[in-house]
Formats: sequence, structure tokens, C-alpha cells
Amino acid sequence: MTEKLLEGFQSFRQFQYENADPLMLRLIEEGQKPEYFIISCIDSRANPATIFRAQPGTFFNFMAMGAIVRPYKQGTALSAALQFALEYSGVRKIIILGHTHCGAIKALAEDIEDPEIASFIDVAHDGLERAKNSCPHHAHDSETLLRCTEQEIVLQSIKNLETYPAVARVMSGESLEIHGWIFDMQAGQLQEHQGGKWDTIKINPCPVATDQRAL
Ligand SMILES: [Zn+2]
Repeated sequence: MTEKLLEGFQSFRQFQYENADPLMLRLIEEGQKPEYFIISCIDSRANPATIFRAQPGTFFNFMAMGAIVRPYKQGTALSAALQFALEYSGVRKIIILGHTHCGAIKALAEDIEDPEIASFIDVAHDGLERAKNSCPHHAHDSETLLRCTEQEIVLQSIKNLETYPAVARVMSGESLEIHGWIFDMQAGQLQEHQGGKWDTIKINPCPVATDQRAL
């Protein structure tokens, strides 16, 4: 039943423990110093460790349905995680990573009745309303509206993030980068919100990809 996981673990062991310079053992000896804190959706297709091909020690990852950040409340899993990452680990870059074709955002738009899910995602209703206003009227087909809503909710989550004391403290004194990104699953692209608009992040072709094309 768990074969797929164990196959993956075997490969992980091979790369991170059984080579000449095992990264995991170094991270244990030297401690972790992740540069980023990524807030992502729980969606299995948009997992940051997968899409960024990240090595252990690269980022803290917090997952929530729709990558939705609710306004600050003491004692939540996110407030504790942010406190640890910003106050004790020195993280200064936060990325809110939404994604297209998000089931949580669709559930919000379709007014899902499940009380457990609805009571978490309901906080993003403002984002849905903003999307309805900002999307051009002629483009109000459901898929276009969902894409707009996914973007608006990332922006709303950034605003909510700023209500967390650890975030506010760092923002008031030092520079804290907060990025709003969307992983476009269909296009295989990342969109970034910058200067009031969403743009596709330009990715340089990596040498491996070039080599593969040459083959
Ligand atoms: Zn999602």
C-alpha cells in the first residue's frame, strides 16, 4: 500500500545520505537555516518541494487549503510557525504560493456547504467579491472568474499576513520580502504580483533542459 512512498524514500536516502557529502548529515550537524517561508495550498499537484525541486533545508513550508491566510489569532499553527521562522531562524522572505485550478477556491466560489471546509475558507469571501468586481464583465465565465479569485485571495492573504505580530515586527525594523505567487499548473509557469499587476516570472532555461532538448 505504501510502496510509492517507500520507493521515493529509497531514492531520497540515496541522494541525501549515501553520497560522498550527505546533505542531511551536514544539516543535522550545522543546523538548518532556511531562507524562505512558503505558505502553500495542500493540493498534491502544487507542492513547493516538488515544483521548486528543493533540497532539504531550503524553506519552511506551511500548508493550508487554498494557501489562505486568516487574520492573526494567537495560538494558531501559522502564528507559531511564523514566530519560530522569523524570530528564531532569521527568515526574511515569505512567499504565498497560490495555484490555478485550486479546489479550495472553487469550493468558495460554489458556496460549499461542508461546515468544516466552509468555516475555514469563508474568510476569503472578500477576495471572491473583489474578483467579481475586477474581472471584466464579459469575462465572467466561471473559469476566468476562478483565475481572478485565485489571484485576489493571494493578495488578501498577504494583507492578513501583515496582522501577525512576528511579521509586523520584522516589517517595522528590517526589510521583509513578501511575495505573492501563483503556480499556473496548466501553463507550467509562475505568476508574480508586482507593481499592482500579475506577470509571468521569466525563467531562464537551465543547462539540463538545454541538454535534454539537444538529445
Ligand atoms: Zn489549492
